[in-house]
Amino acid sequence: MTKYDCIVVGLGAMGSATTYQLAKAGAKVLGIDQFSPPHKLGSSHGGSRITRSAIGEGVEYSELALRSHTIWREVEAATGRQLFLRNGCLTISGTDAVVMHDVDDFFANIGAAARQYDIPHRMFETPEAIRARYPQFAVKAGDHGILDEEAGTLFPETCVAAQLELAERHGAAILRNTAVASIDGADVTTADGQRFSAEKVVIAAGAWLPRFAAEELAKHFTVTRQVLLWFEIKTNPERFAPENCPVYIWQLPRNAHVHSSIYGFAHDGDPSHGVKVTHEESGGVADPNHVDRTVDQAEEIDRVYRNYIEPFLPDLGPHCLRTETCLYTRVDRSRFVIDTDPRNDRVIFVSACSGHGFKHSAAIGEAVAQQVTNGRAAHVDIAPFKLARLADYLKA
Ligand SMILES: Cc1cc2nc3c(=O)[nH]c(=O)nc-3n(C[C@H](O)[C@H](O)[C@H](O)COP(=O)(O)OP(=O)(O)OC[C@H]3O[C@@H](n4cnc5c(N)ncnc54)[C@H](O)[C@@H]3O)c2cc1C
Repeated sequence: MTKYDCIVVGLGAMGSATTYQLAKAGAKVLGIDQFSPPHKLGSSHGGSRITRSAIGEGVEYSELALRSHTIWREVEAATGRQLFLRNGCLTISGTDAVVMHDVDDFFANIGAAARQYDIPHRMFETPEAIRARYPQFAVKAGDHGILDEEAGTLFPETCVAAQLELAERHGAAILRNTAVASIDGADVTTADGQRFSAEKVVIAAGAWLPRFAAEELAKHFTVTRQVLLWFEIKTNPERFAPENCPVYIWQLPRNAHVHSSIYGFAHDGDPSHGVKVTHEESGGVADPNHVDRTVDQAEEIDRVYRNYIEPFLPDLGPHCLRTETCLYTRVDRSRFVIDTDPRNDRVIFVSACSGHGFKHSAAIGEAVAQQVTNGRAAHVDIAPFKLARLADYLKA
């Protein structure tokens, strides 16, 4: 049986970053995935992810994002691929706004994080100020905004592919299309009967992670199907060019038909591809092995356009040019879990991070690799994501 310093189970955002960082640090590492990443069956696809530095989910996340931005730049330099487009992130909120990611103070936290970490930002105190700079957003009375300038678009498939490329360059062994069936201590057996042994195992299995956890941990995870939509640009395509359109999160005014925020992106350089804009409504609890990938025209496109898009982005038309489905794996209160398995101190869980983890994944991978090799993370603090802290958080 081949023996490794560490085996990483799952090679999406979290696992590709961890495998790369372990290999870069000189560890003997094996990364295993049941599919061939980057792929469309987990949580790290769809062409774009928002990255921000001033983090509304809590000030403790900002150092993860800032460190990740440094790593994305290093990966870009080492691979010659573009991972990150720094076109800013505008967050809009207003009167009776919907809650974002279960965090009541989301908008206020962004300003607090920007001040604490000296992140370049710009406030828009009135709807008129937003409209003057960004006429594509039909903001309402009482709306205000904050532009995080150290923010923008990540290209998730490229991030995963580039980190796996570098991992292999640094000597990692990568096993694709091979499912891990069981883990005993730090011995890993695959569904096709291969056996590997290691000092440590990192489980970064995304929506499949709860299957490796005891019931009392697994119960904190909820997997939901999310729908991604690309709508046609009907008028003023220049407003959606990356130089005129930051990524955006909009805490919409709540009404009988609007229950969640929307978020969206600039076009990809070709306005005829439309723009990705979608909502945070859950598409229902999902089994990751049996996800309905068809998107319902009436309920999931027409209704969404009518309630979430048309009143707020009037340049976009009702014709949906592209759809994809993706999985959120939420922990209570949208928290992250990065900790040792309480039953087995040779296993570390890295959760799929509640629908806002991609931007932090490069730093999380580095921190987990450092924990494996040196016993502690050197650049960022991952203690807030320990299980004990989750318990404290849930009690609060
Ligand atoms: C629609 C949507 C929009 C999002 N938007 C944003 C955003 O704008 N900004 C942001 O920061 N975050 C965002 N997120 C969250 C972010 O994408 C996730 O936090 C991140 O992608 C999770 O990565 P992961 O590595 O945990 O999961 P995945 O990428 O799914 O990787 C898990 C991997 O484990 C593998 N695996 C599972 N079981 C096994 C097994 N038994 N054996 C071998 N391999 C296995 C899977 O095949 C998979 O490749 C979004 C997520 C979704 C779904």
